[in-house]
Amino acid sequence: MARIPDSHPRKKSLESRQKIVDGSSMGLLADSAMIAHGRGEAFDYLLGERTTGSAREAIRESAARLRNARRPVISVNGNTVVLAGDGAIRLAAVLGCPIEVNLYYRTPTRVNGLISLLEEWRSKVSQEDVPDGFDGDWKESVEGVSLLGESPNFEIEGLEGPRSNCTLEGIGGADTILVPLEDGDRCEALISLGKEVLVVDLNPLSRSSRMATVTIVDEVSRAFEGILSHLLNDSDYMQTEWDNRKSLKESLKEIGDHFSE
Ligand code: ATP
Ligand code: MG
Repeated sequence: MARIPDSHPRKKSLESRQKIVDGSSMGLLADSAMIAHGRGEAFDYLLGERTTGSAREAIRESAARLRNARRPVISVNGNTVVLAGDGAIRLAAVLGCPIEVNLYYRTPTRVNGLISLLEEWRSKVSQEDVPDGFDGDWKESVEGVSLLGESPNFEIEGLEGPRSNCTLEGIGGADTILVPLEDGDRCEALISLGKEVLVVDLNPLSRSSRMATVTIVDEVSRAFEGILSHLLNDSDYMQTEWDNRKSLKESLKEIGDHFSE
C-alpha cells in the first residue's frame, strides 16, 4: 500500500483497514471480518475516533476487575489479532494470563495462522523497552504468555456447534474474560456460566455490549493501550458496582455531543 502522509486526517483508520485487507488475503480472517470491521468503523466515526469519557471509565473499571480476577484470560478473534495483537500480548504479560484464539468460524488453518502471528508479536514485544510502571523481568513475562486455542478440550454450555469450543486452561476455567468484538450469543452464554465478561465493542447497541458485565465502547487497540496504562499506573483504583446500562447510555449521548461540539 502507498504510504499515507502523517498529515492525513484519517491515517489511522486507513492503516487499520489495510491490516484487515492484508489479514484477509493471508487467509487469517473469515469473509465476514470485513463486514464487522466496517460496522466498527462507522461507530468509531460517530464517536469521533477518540476514547470518550465513558469509555475511559469503563477501561479503568475493566483494568481493576482484571487485576482482581483469580483466573483472567484474553479471548481474541482474527480482527483483534490483526489490529491489536501486540496490545494483547502486553496486557497478558502484565496480568500473567493466557491469550486464547477463539473463532466463530473456526478452521485449523486460521487458528494456527493467528497463533503464529501472536508468536511473532510475542517475540517482538519481548524486545521492547520495559513499559513505564512495570516491575519485574519484562522479557521473561512476555515470553511466558501462553497462546491457547489450537486444541479445544471444553465446551461452553448453552451454545451449539463449533463456536462452543474452547480450552479449559483458558476460557473454560476463567472467572474474568476480556473479549473484544464478541458475538452476542457467546457473550450471553459466558455470562450464564457466571463469568465476568469485559467486552470491547464500538457499537453500544450490539447484543454483546448489552449483555456484558462491563462494555468498553472504544476501538480495540485504543482500549488495550488504556487498560495497560491503568494496570501499570493506577493501582489505587478499586472496582465499583458497575452500572453498565448507564455507561452505554452515556456513550450514546457522547455520539450526539460530538456532533454539537
Ligand atoms: P451482536 O451479536 O453482539 O449483536 P453483531 O452481530 O452486530 O453483534 P458482530 O459481527 O458479531 O456484530 O461483531 C462485530 C462487532 O465488533 C460490531 O458490533 C462492531 O461494532 C465491533 N467492532 C468492529 N471492529 C472493531 C474494532 N476495531 N474495535 C472495537 N469494536 C469493533
Ligand atoms: Mg452477532
